[in-house]
Amino acid sequence: MDYDVIVVGAGFTGLTAATQLMKAGVNVVLLEAQERVGGRVEAQVFEDGTAVDAGGQFFCRDMPEVVSLAREFGRTFVKTYAEGDTTYFPEVPRGRAEAIWNGVDALRETMIASDLSDPALRTLTAYDWAQRQPVEDDIRQGFLRMVTGLWCRAPEEIAFTYLAANDRRITNTTSELELFLAGTMHALADDLAATLGDRLRLGMPVTELAISGDGVTLMTGTGKMTAAQVVLAVPPIMARRLSYAPALPPHLTRALDAWIPGMVIKLNIRFERPFWRDRDLSGMTMWNDPQGLFACDASRDGYAGLIVFVSGPLAATWHDKPARELETFVIEKLAEALGEEARHSLGIRMRDWVDDRWSDGAYSDVITSLDATDAEATMTTGMPPVHFASSELSPSFPGYVEGAIVAGKQVAAKVLKLSPGR
Ligand SMILES: Cc1cc2nc3c(=O)[nH]c(=O)nc-3n(C[C@H](O)[C@H](O)[C@H](O)COP(=O)(O)OP(=O)(O)OC[C@H]3O[C@@H](n4cnc5c(N)ncnc54)[C@H](O)[C@@H]3O)c2cc1C
Repeated sequence: MDYDVIVVGAGFTGLTAATQLMKAGVNVVLLEAQERVGGRVEAQVFEDGTAVDAGGQFFCRDMPEVVSLAREFGRTFVKTYAEGDTTYFPEVPRGRAEAIWNGVDALRETMIASDLSDPALRTLTAYDWAQRQPVEDDIRQGFLRMVTGLWCRAPEEIAFTYLAANDRRITNTTSELELFLAGTMHALADDLAATLGDRLRLGMPVTELAISGDGVTLMTGTGKMTAAQVVLAVPPIMARRLSYAPALPPHLTRALDAWIPGMVIKLNIRFERPFWRDRDLSGMTMWNDPQGLFACDASRDGYAGLIVFVSGPLAATWHDKPARELETFVIEKLAEALGEEARHSLGIRMRDWVDDRWSDGAYSDVITSLDATDAEATMTTGMPPVHFASSELSPSFPGYVEGAIVAGKQVAAKVLKLSPGR
């Protein structure tokens, strides 16, 4: 056996699992397909060397794992600028905007509190459920916009019971956009990776697993490797793309088939100064038309900029068009909502995650099959010596960096339990 454990995928889940196992004295190696770590956390760089997060970035004080990890590596926290008014486009009267906000919150609470064992709920999509709620139409639209923005798929596609069960685990009371790291979240992934030394191998895509009573043989780009246990720290959809010999049992295949990828494009748009603040605007902008467009301020010392997220069906539409056209469209929308100064950006960094080679999408995979209520539990149980882990499967903050760290710790504990002599 080459290793006690092979971890596949160096996103935050795999990095966490591998470092935990290394600390416990396990002979572990982490294989990553790409030439960088971080997975759905990635940095892009402007011409002057300023790095920005093109993937996962924000967190808040209610996310203890990411906060403590960033502290451990001495990373500088930035408080996201949130003073001033939120901009709604098309404009909504101030009193009504607040009522919609509170109404959406209340609807979200109703969703979280619903009895998920109720068979009638298992036949509904998120859209169906929203249509049945006795609320005013602008609140319903606000709720659907929130679902599209956070889960990056049309509410018509998302299974309601999955959405409610997922949202129950997202327990922050402060805004999830509260904080980010000055030196990027991606640099924190690099910090973790550095502790692994030569236990990390980049450019090693895994294609196939042969599972036997003795352990697992992995086929990688450069040959075979064997281990007593394997952790597949990749999104569910990427785990489904691997070949398994013998084939996975039907219940696991069904669980892996239940997911579709989120669709998002993230733009970091740099300006000379945060001009929107002159008008007492926070920079946070929510568009009702088109649905799936959202902006916020991501300025920090020495950098002024907005982030724009294009999510769900809108991201799918733009994915098929030239990037330059999307840039022009987004600048036009910002100019309408925040002011003409938006036309004078100093540069744009765009990252399209739709159909991404190594994640297939983001922020996370979501469940569409209405009858796949046990898909997550089935994957979490896995089929030792093969374990599945990713942010999607986390008991807290699924779909977030926090969830990835929690999932990594959880799977490492499971692996240790099954390791002889421990
Ligand atoms: C645009 C965007 C914005 C986001 N914003 C936020 C945010 O503000 N806050 C937040 O908390 N979260 C955010 N997220 C979500 C967050 O980034 C993810 O939930 C988290 O990073 C997932 O980590 P993971 O380790 O579970 O999976 P991944 O990061 O996807 O890691 C999986 C790794 O496996 C590798 N891999 C895949 N297949 C193979 C293979 N066959 N062989 C070897 N390696 C393989 C991949 O290359 C990747 O490195 C965002 C994501 C995106 C894309």
